[in-house]
Amino acid sequence: MALHLSEDLFREIEELSTQVCPEEAIGLLAGEAGGTVKSVLPLRNIAPLGRFLADPYEQFQAERAIKKAGLKLLAIFHSHPWGGANLSPEDLSFAQHWECAHVVFAFNPDTRHQWELRAFIFKQGSVEEVPVKIEGELLLKSNIKDRA
Ligand SMILES: [Zn+2]
Repeated sequence: MALHLSEDLFREIEELSTQVCPEEAIGLLAGEAGGTVKSVLPLRNIAPLGRFLADPYEQFQAERAIKKAGLKLLAIFHSHPWGGANLSPEDLSFAQHWECAHVVFAFNPDTRHQWELRAFIFKQGSVEEVPVKIEGELLLKSNIKDRA
């Protein structure tokens, strides 16, 4: 499985993450079974700062809208302002209860130009990275060049 994001949808994730900063943004990525993302459904974060927990009712409504549109829940995304695009220990324990992928959008709110996006999926008790393709020539899944 690989996730395919258009530049517009990538910009939506970026915009949402910037809007709610310093809180973490959360949303669902819905799309086709092959991995092409068709829509980003933002959810309200009801967790304290530095964590994420989607509003359960909003999540219920979003999942219903996804089904109604004939789409599949491909991934849950959340942002890491000032962080890296890895799953934290809390993220890992959350991720293992889901069959979909987990997208982390890490960015530096001070510069807005440094970001990194990675996706992971839990399979048979271990975490695998899911390749992400973002369309558009200038968009790579990370624009942080000097990081190990
Ligand atoms: Zn996280």
